[in-house]
Formats: sequence, C-alpha cells, structure tokens
Amino acid sequence: ESISVKDFCDKIGKTVTDVMTKLVSMGVFATINQEIDFETAEALALEFNIDVKLEGAEEEEAEYGIEDFEDDPKDLKDRPPVITVMGHVDHGKTSLLDAIRETNVTAREAGGITQHIGASEVYVDGKKIVFLDTPGHEAFTSMRARGASLTDIAILVVAADDGVMPQTKEAINHAKAAGVPIIVAINKMDKPGSNPDRVKQELSEHGVLVEDWGGDTISVPVSALKGEGIDNLLEMIVLAAEMQELKANPNRLGAGVVIEAKLDKSRGPVATVLVQKGNLKVGDPIVAGASFGRVRAMINDKGKNIKKANPSTAVEILGLSDVPNAGDTFNAVKSDKLARQIGEKRKAKFREANLNSTTKVSLEDLFMHIQEGEVKELNIIVKADVQGSVQAVKQSLAKLSNDEVKINMIHGGVGTVTESDILLASASNAIIIGFNVRPSSAVSSMAERESVDVRIYRVIYEAIEDVQKAMKGMLDPEF
Ligand code: GDP
Repeated sequence: ESISVKDFCDKIGKTVTDVMTKLVSMGVFATINQEIDFETAEALALEFNIDVKLEGAEEEEAEYGIEDFEDDPKDLKDRPPVITVMGHVDHGKTSLLDAIRETNVTAREAGGITQHIGASEVYVDGKKIVFLDTPGHEAFTSMRARGASLTDIAILVVAADDGVMPQTKEAINHAKAAGVPIIVAINKMDKPGSNPDRVKQELSEHGVLVEDWGGDTISVPVSALKGEGIDNLLEMIVLAAEMQELKANPNRLGAGVVIEAKLDKSRGPVATVLVQKGNLKVGDPIVAGASFGRVRAMINDKGKNIKKANPSTAVEILGLSDVPNAGDTFNAVKSDKLARQIGEKRKAKFREANLNSTTKVSLEDLFMHIQEGEVKELNIIVKADVQGSVQAVKQSLAKLSNDEVKINMIHGGVGTVTESDILLASASNAIIIGFNVRPSSAVSSMAERESVDVRIYRVIYEAIEDVQKAMKGMLDPEF
C-alpha cells in the first residue's frame, strides 16, 4: 500500500515539481523514487482536489458491478405503460385480459400463438401497452412487499351487476397505498341487472371519484364477454399513460423485475422478467436475486425468440443458475464473473440474514422509531368481525394523531386477517389490529416471516389504549 513519488505523479497527471512542492509544504521530505504510504498519497492528492482510492478498493467496488447511476434526462426516452388488472373475484379480470388480447390479435397478424409468459403486449394505434397477466392484488402487493414497483396504472374491474365488493375495496386500498392511479372498468354491461351508476356511487363512498361524479378517475363501461368497450378502455389507458410521461434510458445495461419464475423440466430455470430500464440482450451476463447466469434465449409473449428487449418489455429468459423469486430485481452486468460473484455474495447474505432485515414497525418499538425520527406515520390495518367495530376504531384512531406521528388506517374490513392483509401490511409497513377474529396458523406464520405486528383484541378500548401508550413509549413489552 505504497507508491513511489514518481508513479504518483504519473497517476494523477501532475509534474514532479508541483508534487514535490506540495509534499514539502506538508512537511514530507521524499526523493522522487521514495515510496509514500497510502494515507500520505491520499492527503497529497486532496491538495490537488483529486480523490484517490486504493487499487484493491476500486476492484471491490467494481465487483459490485451493478450500474446504479442516475440517468441524464437527455438520455431518457418514452416507454410504454405497464398495467395491472385488479378487482373482486368473478368480476371479470381474466375475461377482460382475454378480451384485450383478442382485440389485439385481429389488429396484428392473426394466428400468432399467445404463450403464457406472465405478461402480454398490446398495440393501440401503434403504441404499446404491457399488461401483467397475473390478475389480483396479491401479486401486485407481494411484488411491492419485495420492493418492486412495476405498475404504472391499475385497472379496477367492477361488475356492473354486483358493485363494489370486499376485494374491490382491498384493490382500491392497495393501489392507493402504492400511489398507482386507477382506471375503472365497469364490466358486464351486457347483463340485464347492470347498474353503472350504482357502481360509481359506491366507488365514491370509497374515495374513488369518477369523472361524472366530479372526480378525475376515468371509468369505462365494458363487456369483456362481448368484447364491447375494450377499444375505448385501451384508448383511455394510452391517454392516462401519456399524462404520466413515462420514460427510461434504453441505452444502458438492462435492469428490471422478475414477474414469474419456474423450473421447467426441459429448459431449466425459466423467468419472466420485465425490463424497466436499459436493454437486455441474448448473451448478457445477468443476476436476478441470488441467481445468476447468462441470457441464453429470450422469448416474447407471442412465443417468438427475440435478441433484444427494451424498457417496458416482458420476456421469458433462459440461462439462469436457479429459479429466482417473483419480485426479485435483475440486472445485466459486464461479465460472467461479476454475475457469479454478485450472485454468490447475495446467496451468502440471504443465508446469513435469513430473516428479512428491513425494519418493520411494531407497536413495541414505535416510540423508539418516533424518537429517532424514523417514523412520522403509523399505518394501521383493521380487521373485525363486524363493520361497526371497523368504523369505531377508525374514528378513535383518527383522534390519536399528533404532531409527531400521524395515524393512517390504510385498510379496514370485516373478516379475519388474511394473507393479503399481511402482504399489504408488509408492503406499507403497517401493523394489523384485529377484533374478535382469529388468524389461521398459516397467516400467523406468514406474519412472523414478514415481521408484521398483528395484534388481536376483544375490546376496542384496549386497542386504542395500546396505540396511545405505544406512541408515548409506555407500552408494556409483550412476553
Ligand atoms: P375473475 O375472477 O375476475 O378473473 O373473473 P372471470 O374473468 O373468471 O369471470 C367470472 C365470470 O364472469 C365468468 O363466468 C365470465 O364468463 C363472466 N364474465 C366476465 N365478463 C363478463 C361480461 O362482460 N359479461 C357477462 N355476462 N359475463 C362476464
């Protein structure tokens, strides 16, 4: 860890005289061939406003060879929107996705076999829209719980003959928690009992104001079954997307998120990834979560092999060492060696920190987090056996907010605590309060895995008191 004065001059591109003068002024008397240690070299370089690093250290950094620079705005190009379809069961999410794909097959070359890769691409007036094919907010929220935000717009499907149902509300809350704008598709308009006005009114009761209710949420009547209104819906999506001015730099190493992954008997680990920035090419060394490899082939949603995927493209990739998790981020890197090193490092790290180490709030450590200024808001999910309790808790909690911490009830509903609640809590760093409900053991162990604080009470008063105490750091620790 030393360098001769002469080499030092060469490295920083300064003349020997300049360097010697500075050295002397620092009180170091050295000849041109004498070695100086790293600390001296560092201080000396600083005199010239140059930041030096040990060669080893530079290598270490390069080892972590994932490009994470901010893009220069001039490198950003428009990118297509990525859409998720959400809504209550049986309201027609799957049918809508099918209808959308069908309208598109006629528009493009017919007979193209659509292959299920977890996403599909649709063209409207030559503009691409990407649909994530796994409908439902579980998929949406589990991704978000893992830190991946994929969706630019959420399509909320509501059946016109059924109206706003529990999972509709959940979907609304999930989208809101993620800050993703909603477009409402009022489906099953062909049905005799359809009543779109009632849907709009019910939506307004849940904080979604459609345009004819004075709000700015777009709603489109459709019939997924008959294929009616689909074009209109697609056009609205294009419009909404244009307002968002979605951009990405297509000219850097590809990066994005794993949407789905599986082990295929003949093809090995197969992952569908969404490229979010840069471009991914066949032959690129890649890491996805803790798995690594080299992109051996890329297949698009039409079942075609492609060589290169730009931002907002979903492709199936082959060539990974093992199966990554949905929600893992992926990165193309400069060399196979780097990919392997990063993958191995992550594997070791995951093994070590088996438990997810992100700090989740719990009532017990709430005060500490408030004190440290880490928590300014406490998100709460309330589940109860009767609607009255949910309302009562909501009102009582609202009164607890103070200057230091704001209490938000991000979701409330009747019924027991479900896996979907845990996911939402995990993604939104919320605690769950339940009244007279008993979560299943599967839900409890999931809560433990995700470090979500679930508290079950019999009386509202006790819950409010606990939250109050927790805010003051006076909650008795639980055994
Ligand atoms: P998902 O659970 O939200 O994915 O709902 P599906 O797409 O599976 O649809 C549930 C049921 O509603 C199926 O029997 C569909 O055929 C029916 N369905 C979906 N869309 C429409 C529609 O626009 N009109 C009518 N009449 N039925 C529909």
